[in-house]
Amino acid sequence: MSRGRAAAAVGLAVISAGLAAAAAALIAFYPPPSTFAALYPPDNEHVRPGRFAAPACNGVQCRLCPWNCFLPEGARGRCKVRINHGGKIKTLVYSQAAAVHVDPIEKKPVYHMYPGSLVYSLAAPGCNLSCKGCQNWELSQLYPEQAPERVRVPSELALKFAPDGRPYGELRTEEVSGLSPADIVRYAKATRSRAVAYTYSEPAVFYEYMYDTARLAHENGLKNVLVSAGYINPKPLAELLPYLDVVKIDLKGFSEEFYRGYTGGRLEPVKLALLELKKNRVLTEAVNLVIPGLNDSEPDFEALAAWVRTNLGAETPLFFSRFSPNYLLTEAPPTPLATLEKARAIALKNGLKFVYTGNAPGQGGEDTLCPKCGRALVRRHGYAVLEDRLTPTGGRCPWDGARIPGIWK
Ligand code: SF4
Repeated sequence: MSRGRAAAAVGLAVISAGLAAAAAALIAFYPPPSTFAALYPPDNEHVRPGRFAAPACNGVQCRLCPWNCFLPEGARGRCKVRINHGGKIKTLVYSQAAAVHVDPIEKKPVYHMYPGSLVYSLAAPGCNLSCKGCQNWELSQLYPEQAPERVRVPSELALKFAPDGRPYGELRTEEVSGLSPADIVRYAKATRSRAVAYTYSEPAVFYEYMYDTARLAHENGLKNVLVSAGYINPKPLAELLPYLDVVKIDLKGFSEEFYRGYTGGRLEPVKLALLELKKNRVLTEAVNLVIPGLNDSEPDFEALAAWVRTNLGAETPLFFSRFSPNYLLTEAPPTPLATLEKARAIALKNGLKFVYTGNAPGQGGEDTLCPKCGRALVRRHGYAVLEDRLTPTGGRCPWDGARIPGIWK
């Protein structure tokens, strides 16, 4: 065979392989309507109308998050949990809690609301980002049809007394095949939780389920905690805000390059979400997972801290959290403690008043300090609160009266 013909044959083979890969990706991403019908019969209780959609040529556009996915009939969005079915957007995960726990609020981590309280915490499958080091990838990367039919949920926290008279809690559980907003509120109260947290995966993509639950929780005297990457469009976020009490935003890094390479998404929409929270005066805490070699340079920390200080305010609690190897980054090392300390020092130097280190118990970055006198107001170790001087005073330093932002009563 001549050199020219050989080169042409190789070229053809490469093009054919490329086309086959593209077709496989298309089929995986846009399953035909029959696939939907097989997986989700009309009486599937988890399939409900989805909000924030606009008609588009031969399909619909989902406008819940910055991807604004265009979905032809039968196609599924990047989040895996929203689909065009019959020309309408449907959520596939209403009432489909895939993980439910009663957690200490410090585990979210949220430090400026009800220290030491319990939070009824739940996740449905799906996420609109694809972070390479996701710490909850078993949930976030799950397709709804892969989630177990039944899930064990905390149903009651019974108060018991040890032989020496000390009280302790005994957590009871039940197995359920769906968890409605009314169930969540009932179980949250029975487990002595003071709030419901939408967490672990990405709550933005189970918006309708979260929205209905948050409304009902408020009506029943519970607070709501959203733990999110902030990858949500301004309009859906604004409609949710009246029902949120504290929002924890995972600010994954501070460059577009990092966001695109590590999360698949963009930084700018996350900044917009944070500004929307600030504009609406929602108590907001930010956390940055520090990954060695990826987002741990001094300029990264400087840029992030300066932006938070300028745009969200010096009183915004900011956490630098320790990374553990996970998902696609099993080879990356855990974050050195010295790096977390450096990040914290940079943020404090930039004028932030409440800077914490996370996933590093006993390293000295867990306490809430009075920005005026420097004394410890809430002392913590891991998820345990050792001392709380703020709840009795309603959020004021008992020594100098400084007001500490948060929800304390
Ligand atoms: S929520 Fe985002 S990722 Fe999911 S379908 Fe809508 S626009 Fe796409």
